[in-house]
Amino acid sequence: MDAATPTEPRHVAAQIFTTARAGYARHRQTDLDARLAALRTLKQEILDHRDEAIDAVMRDVGKCHTDALIAEIIGAVDWIHWLEGNATRLLAPQKVPTPITLLGKRSELWHEALGVVLVICPWNYPFHNAITAIAAAVACGNAIVYKPSEHAPCVGLIERFVGVSPLLNDLVHVAYGDGAMGRALIDAGPAKIFFTGSGATGARIMAQAAQQLIPVELELGGKDPMIVFDDAHTPRAVAGALWGAFTNAGQSCSAVERLLVHERIHDAFVDDLVREASRLVIGTDDRGDADIGRMTASFQRDKVIAHIEEALQLGARLRHGRIPDRDSLIVEPVILDHVTSQMRVWTDETFGPVLPVMRFGDEAEAIRLANGTDYGLCASVFSADQARARRVAAALEVGGVSINNVNMSEGNPGLPFGGAKKSGFGKLRGPEGLLGFTRSKAVLIDQGGAKIEANWYPYTDEKLRRFQRFVDALYGRGLWTRAFRLLAIAWHGLRLEAFSQRPRD
Ligand code: NAD
Repeated sequence: MDAATPTEPRHVAAQIFTTARAGYARHRQTDLDARLAALRTLKQEILDHRDEAIDAVMRDVGKCHTDALIAEIIGAVDWIHWLEGNATRLLAPQKVPTPITLLGKRSELWHEALGVVLVICPWNYPFHNAITAIAAAVACGNAIVYKPSEHAPCVGLIERFVGVSPLLNDLVHVAYGDGAMGRALIDAGPAKIFFTGSGATGARIMAQAAQQLIPVELELGGKDPMIVFDDAHTPRAVAGALWGAFTNAGQSCSAVERLLVHERIHDAFVDDLVREASRLVIGTDDRGDADIGRMTASFQRDKVIAHIEEALQLGARLRHGRIPDRDSLIVEPVILDHVTSQMRVWTDETFGPVLPVMRFGDEAEAIRLANGTDYGLCASVFSADQARARRVAAALEVGGVSINNVNMSEGNPGLPFGGAKKSGFGKLRGPEGLLGFTRSKAVLIDQGGAKIEANWYPYTDEKLRRFQRFVDALYGRGLWTRAFRLLAIAWHGLRLEAFSQRPRD
């Protein structure tokens, strides 16, 4: 007898996948225009009722109002808007040039739905992460099972918004729970897994997915460097560093987690950082317009404390802020200098409002230090010298770079977002991100009829000789003029073609 009760993860997961698969089957023939129309309705609903999403996210995550509006709402709406303008072109069957060896045939690439995909998300951007994945999945014709984090589930929020469209209602399903639910959902056999979260969980998910050969995309943590050269506009770089490090209380995968400042301006720059940081308002009021909200979870705050304490023990200097209280999620931003690459605050993702600063002497050292971690999500480079900034950007082992800006390559929905090294693989958003929700199908179309192809049986010595000459004409070495080669290709091609007309009997 099956001992599963209706609330056990594997039971819930199986039920959700049954419903999602039925929704997918019902809408397999629904065309892209109808799917985009549903997303347009969703976009309007988000715009009209954004405060409902903002309230839920502020309550569960603790972020301040402006952070919620900018990242959760604008980011989600921008992506749907981009899909409205680009999905039809990107998802249309694509004609692919056919080489001369396949003369007379037509080649196409089709982009098809995968089926029911599984999206597992962290707690730091619960609305944005859900809506952008849902919109991409649905645009491509998939059904989606979305699992929010147990630490910021925003219960009912996604169902409330997708409820505006019967199509979305059928295609989008939310599964609540922790890692046990995540594992059960993978066991239910999704067509593909899109995971955003920590590297440790990503590795576990990949191992489990491997048992069923389920493809995965992993968007993992970061330790993003920001490099400031001595010719950068200092007030702009200072303001950028503070926002990049402390937005969403530093709980952003692409937060500035390491600041590298040229030695000529380092001391004055850190003084400016400290002065400006003291002006930041830390929010306690859920409706307030503070600069920085609270941290989301006590385990994350404890990691922040551990990183700061270790850094101070190893000789770092606390330039701003203090060791956070263990009984509060309000964490004053911390700036540390005298930091070394032996400290976890420099090598491991902290994921909190902590900004360690290090000096560098020249361009090569800045690149070496910036590339000196296992992570490779994003980076920023500040310099008045565009050529140098581009050169450094090219040398950084990351998935995205902002030049004279911070955290902004992900602001453009047309650019893909995703990491290098242990920050993961696969892309969200941009053409690559959209096509990640499809399976490409290669299609070759011939005229049909009675023709027997030259490369089909029977093989004969004569046919082999003709193929040899054709290959030589196509790719052979020697002093062939272009005209002579074309002539030879045409001649041997025609001989082969004539050969191919012969029926076997
Ligand atoms: P996490 O890895 O602990 O959890 C992420 C999600 O995975 C949660 O929904 C959790 O319930 C689920 N989960 C846990 N164990 C699972 C398992 N064995 N099988 C299936 N699902 C499982 O991460 P977190 O603490 O929620 O988020 C913080 C991390 O996310 C940070 O490392 C941050 O950098 C990263 N992140 C990355 C990006 C990006 O796009 N690269 C964006 C946001 C956050």
